[in-house]
Amino acid sequence: MKAPHKLPAILLAGRQTIRESASAFWAARCRPIRTYLANALITLYESPTVRSGKSSGSSQRTQQLTPQVERYGPRIKERLATVFRASWPTLPLRVEAVAYADPRGGYTTADPPLITMSSLNPEHQGVDGLEQLFHECSHLMMHTVDTALRSRAKTAGKELSRDVSHTILFYTVADTVRALIPGRVPYPDHYGVWNRGWTRYRELLGLYWQPYLEGKSTMDDAIDRLVHDL
Ligand SMILES: [Zn+2]
Repeated sequence: MKAPHKLPAILLAGRQTIRESASAFWAARCRPIRTYLANALITLYESPTVRSGKSSGSSQRTQQLTPQVERYGPRIKERLATVFRASWPTLPLRVEAVAYADPRGGYTTADPPLITMSSLNPEHQGVDGLEQLFHECSHLMMHTVDTALRSRAKTAGKELSRDVSHTILFYTVADTVRALIPGRVPYPDHYGVWNRGWTRYRELLGLYWQPYLEGKSTMDDAIDRLVHDL
């Protein structure tokens, strides 16, 4: 008799086991390149060469990112934790460089945290790749901002687009990297991110979020004003 079809164990397992199974899966599939930022804060993985024998480009991309993360990563991490009022993710943060990752070139999933970034995306070259890497990390650090936005919007009887939080994230990471690398054109300006229908958000962030980033106002104040004007 034919054995009944079995679902893979990973789908049957409880949450904790999923986490362990997923770790084993990644470990078997990808080659860890380097654990960055002491205490395993970020580990970057290369995807294997694609089946056709064509390179996925991930090796080249991880080699580009390595010195940048080592040089700037600790300061970026510290700054983001301060301005987002959120601690760095406590679980090991895996980053997989793969040939294709979403039309935008990257995405992040939580529990366990996994960042997937496209190694072939031309927008991930040089410092733009560094900025995008920390953009993805920041998706795991938005709870304080999101809670504040929800609370103010509720009080004001407004329904906010999820894009408000995303534009805060874009703006903040861009500002953080630019502060470390003077003269740099931030990723959202370089690639027209604000033209996704976000020019009004960009304008309000310049008015209300920028003073917060400069230490001239509080996050609560910035979000109050932002939600008021939306
Ligand atoms: Zn994003």
